[in-house]
Amino acid sequence: FGRLWPRVTGIQASMEQIAATIPALESVIQLKKESQTAREQENFTNSEPIVIEKGIECKKVFFRYNKKANTYAMKNIDVFFPSNCMTAVIGKSGAGKSTLVDLLMGLNRPERGEILLDGIQLTERNLHSLRRSISYVPQDPFLFNTTVRENLSLIQPNASEDQLWDALRFAAADDFVKRLPQGLDTLIGDRGIRLSGGERQRLVLARAILREPTILVLDEATSALDSENETNIQEALEKLKGKMTIIIIAHRLSTIRNADQVIVLDKGEIIQQGEFRDLAKEQRGMFNHLLKQQIKLSL
Ligand code: ADP
Ligand code: MG
Repeated sequence: FGRLWPRVTGIQASMEQIAATIPALESVIQLKKESQTAREQENFTNSEPIVIEKGIECKKVFFRYNKKANTYAMKNIDVFFPSNCMTAVIGKSGAGKSTLVDLLMGLNRPERGEILLDGIQLTERNLHSLRRSISYVPQDPFLFNTTVRENLSLIQPNASEDQLWDALRFAAADDFVKRLPQGLDTLIGDRGIRLSGGERQRLVLARAILREPTILVLDEATSALDSENETNIQEALEKLKGKMTIIIIAHRLSTIRNADQVIVLDKGEIIQQGEFRDLAKEQRGMFNHLLKQQIKLSL
């Protein structure tokens, strides 16, 4: 990340610069489309968040990383993500889960087919508004080498103490933050306290929630959590249901048991789609297979 912040020497020097950039950073736009970022950041903070009335739709979407290869990372994807519902995307490693969410966030464009937000092409939407409205939490999230408070409030500078703790409680991070030597004002990272992978994930979840996004995308964002904290997050997500559009990719199927719909991807194609319970009953399906595998492992 160092090269993304060539001029950021002290945190005070560039608070505003960083604050304006974090939402984009969380959408990994900097990482993927570095050339565009300077211009995009200019009016980033001025754009209004988007509202989704009906949902996001993929229509016959095809996508390839390499235009010369015949392997498609997405093949004929037809799917609807209803607004304010929780959609889970599952499948083996390499199935195309991250590729799908990247397309939904406008990080990549379909080669064929279209992605519509309330019936309007994603590309016709205000990109800034879209990105401001999405909280994206990847598996290995980014935290600054500063205090817990600054890591949280860079996104929401006006957040009250109560809002910070609400977000931490949501992400099951309140207990460990309380136990840190200076609580919210404890330095973390290279020159401070080293957090575990699970603690980092929980802090970033708190940060993602603090933004009150329209769309919350969790891409294996709870992979480093122990089962107790995972259950806490699962319960917390349950409380968010109906308040925002949630797209969750999780390896552990227990995490997604409350999802409104489950999409099973395999080799870039949707092979199953429906409710958790119904999919579990399809004896020959991949979902049932993955479920049995995980039950066996947990015994
Ligand atoms: P998942 O998230 O389900 O593990 P991905 O969406 O990351 O799967 O990957 C789907 C397929 O696309 C895989 O075959 C992967 O190797 C390939 N792929 C992913 N990202 C890239 C990339 N940046 N360049 C080329 N191929 C990629
Ligand atoms: Mg992935």
